[in-house]
Parts: sequence; structure tokens; C-alpha cells
Amino acid sequence: MPTVTLSALLTDATTRLTAAGIPTAEARTEARVLIQHAFSLTREQLILRPDAELDATFLEPWLLRRAGREPLAYILGEREFYGLGFRVTPAVLIPRPETEHLVEVVTGPLAPDHGGIHAVLDIGTGSGCIAITLAKLLPDAEVWATDISEAALEIARENAARHGVHVEFCLGDLLAPLPPEQCFTVIVSNPPYIAPSETSTLEPEVRDFEPHTALFDPALGGEGLSFYRRLAREAPARLLPGGLLAVEVGQGQDKAVARLWRDAGLVDVAITLDLAGIGRVVSGTKL
Ligand code: GLN
Repeated sequence: MPTVTLSALLTDATTRLTAAGIPTAEARTEARVLIQHAFSLTREQLILRPDAELDATFLEPWLLRRAGREPLAYILGEREFYGLGFRVTPAVLIPRPETEHLVEVVTGPLAPDHGGIHAVLDIGTGSGCIAITLAKLLPDAEVWATDISEAALEIARENAARHGVHVEFCLGDLLAPLPPEQCFTVIVSNPPYIAPSETSTLEPEVRDFEPHTALFDPALGGEGLSFYRRLAREAPARLLPGGLLAVEVGQGQDKAVARLWRDAGLVDVAITLDLAGIGRVVSGTKL
């Protein structure tokens, strides 16, 4: 069995990931994670035993996938969101750290009645990361979630079971599958907001692997705002008085969405910035 030392393997794997176009800082971290995964090593073992002899062929399939720009989260089948582990497959969008701001807006000072949240709806739930995190943080609230993809809902159900929370999952378009009389204290969504014209600006991990229905606004030639227009039209009628409509938006969409919220009659419309200073969450309250 041809063996190499762990440190040589790490250097070689980092070089190959860098050559595949992955930025160096990420390449090293990801090479570490892939080695841990391939050889079932803890982080401590990886650090403390640089001279350990390993059979490099075990790493090869994992390395080939990542060098082919498959996202690490799909390779591992797992991504952390708000401190919780979520199973992810190519049927669902990979949860992003900036989406955590949406959870903060709902549970923070902009929240209706500071905790009087009875019914929450997450539209386009994907992996279920937002709905499930909110169900964890707001144990007294009834949480509903919709998605147009049955394959995504299967993953979301699995994630809800894993975290021991009940979420009422409904298959269908935006609010269409909900019982007509059901209203909410909070409606959240991280809808597909990338304009199809921006496809060429996306990294291969996103463009070639993540579900296009979760990424792209289907309207050709628009600015990625179709779902916000539909939410502005359809969601306020499902909010209880004092209820909050909060969405994640793409870079540069915050002001246009804030305008849509005001035009829909929502008040206290606010834009929350992400850690990069980009307007990331637009929220508004129903009178
Ligand atoms: N709600 C999920 C998330 O934020 C999926 C969003 C989507 O598919 N557009 O990750």
C-alpha cells in the first residue's frame, strides 16, 4: 500500500484544489475537512499527527468531486445553520450564513409583540433551515412551511425530525397550498432572487450544482424581483394585525423591495444589513 504522511497529503490536496480554482485559504480548510471525512479523523488527530502514514487513494474520490467544483456541503451531505446541522442534497439550496440575519430579525427587536409569535410561515423552505430554526427558537409557535419541490420537502421533513420539531410542511407555490383561513404572526421567505442574466457571474459550485428553481427568478430580463412582487401582493392578506413580513434580498435589491412593502401598505419598513454591510433583510409590519 503506497502511503504518504498526513502533512504531505494536506499540502498536495490543497494544491490540487487551488489549481481547480478554489481560493487558497478555502482550499486548505476544505482539504482538511475532506481528509478528516475520508479517514474518519477528528480535528485534534489531524493537527497532532502530521507524520501519520495514510493511504492517499482513500481521499481520491472526495478530492476529485471537490476539484470538479461540487460544493463541500453536498459532498459531506451536511451544512451548519444557526448552530444546527442540516442535511443537504442537490435537491435543496445550501443554507447561507447571511440568511441567519432573517432569523435574527424575526426573533429580535423588530419581532411582533416581542415574543407573542403564534404562527410562522416560511415560504420556499428548501432544506427547512429557517422554519426549523424558528421552531427551535419559538417553541410555542405553530410553524408552517411551503415549497414547490417535493424532493426539497422530503429533506426538510428529515431535518425537522432530526431536530425534534414539528413543522407543517405543504407542497405548492408560495401561499397556494395553505388552508384559506390560516393567518400568521410572521411570514418569512428567502425566495429565488438571482436574475437569469447574472448566471455568468456565479461560481461553478452555485451555477452547476444548486437547484435552479431555488436560485433564479424565472422572469427573463428582470432584476430578480418577481417573487417579492408576488409576496407583496399575496402575503399581507395572510398576516394578522401587527404581523411581520420579512425576506432575504440579493445585493442591491433592498430599496426596491422596501418600496414594494410600503406600496403594499406595510409600515415600519426596515432594511437590516449583513456583516458585509449589504442590505440583506427587508421587513415590514401590517397595521
Ligand atoms: N429557505 C431556504 C434557505 O434559505 C431555501 C431558499 C431557496 O431555496 N431559495 O436556505
